[in-house]
Amino acid sequence: MKKVYLMALAALAAFAFAGCDTEVSEKDVKEDVRKEAEKIVYNHDTLYQTALLQSLTLGNFDGSITVGDFRKKGDTGLGTFQSVNGEMIMLDGKVYRAAWDGTVEEVKDDETIPFAATTHFDEDYTIELTNINDLETLTRILSDYVNEKGKNYIYCVKVEGDFDTLNLRSVKPQTKPYKTLAEAMKSDQVFFDYENLGGTIVGVYCPNYLDGVNFYGWHMHFLSNDREKGGHLLGVKFSKATVKIDLTNGVDIFMPDTDKFQELNLAADQGDDIKNVEAGRK
Ligand SMILES: [Zn+2]
Repeated sequence: MKKVYLMALAALAAFAFAGCDTEVSEKDVKEDVRKEAEKIVYNHDTLYQTALLQSLTLGNFDGSITVGDFRKKGDTGLGTFQSVNGEMIMLDGKVYRAAWDGTVEEVKDDETIPFAATTHFDEDYTIELTNINDLETLTRILSDYVNEKGKNYIYCVKVEGDFDTLNLRSVKPQTKPYKTLAEAMKSDQVFFDYENLGGTIVGVYCPNYLDGVNFYGWHMHFLSNDREKGGHLLGVKFSKATVKIDLTNGVDIFMPDTDKFQELNLAADQGDDIKNVEAGRK
């Protein structure tokens, strides 16, 4: 709410400045401000992110936004939950947890989120991919596509198909005092390998200048069509899939309102930790 108000004020100031030569009634101004603020707040081409990858990797696992509020910011995304309780997949406006025990459930609106990103998915491009034998090939082809369209934008993708093999992982919820994410992954990640499973890979691409704020390059999670299997994607093989791509040219970062967040040294180089977290057992 605070944000809407500030944006409205900014829009009002801009409008007043630009329109100083013309006579405009107060009623007209307010209407215009409202429309302008709505346009900004509901911009579909914004990646909304809560907290930073750096704060998560440093062990800041306490949620700062509810699932209910997060769902107002987008319909497609990925992340994790309070205490790193499983991998989040957001698809068609619903938020799912792929838990460490291999189950998937839809998550209630009152749970909280320490790190996640979402956007309103608008399909800008569609490509068909065939005979992909590993995740590296998939991300290389998608990166080639991104380089063509503009490598400094953010992209959200949905890869839909029947997958020959899927290598997924999740993680057990952590208890306080929290370890770093890399340490938690070392002791508490769990792997799942599946064959012949239909579903959707949700992926987010962030450009290099956002490295650390989010994952530089591709970060992908999977959810099966029957909503019973899922996790962070470590490996994949398929003969045919459709990739829907949403070019996203804005980012909105919500910074947690906690003392702990202010204590973190977010500029510390965590490059190796982040790579280890992303790569799983490899
Ligand atoms: Zn992940």
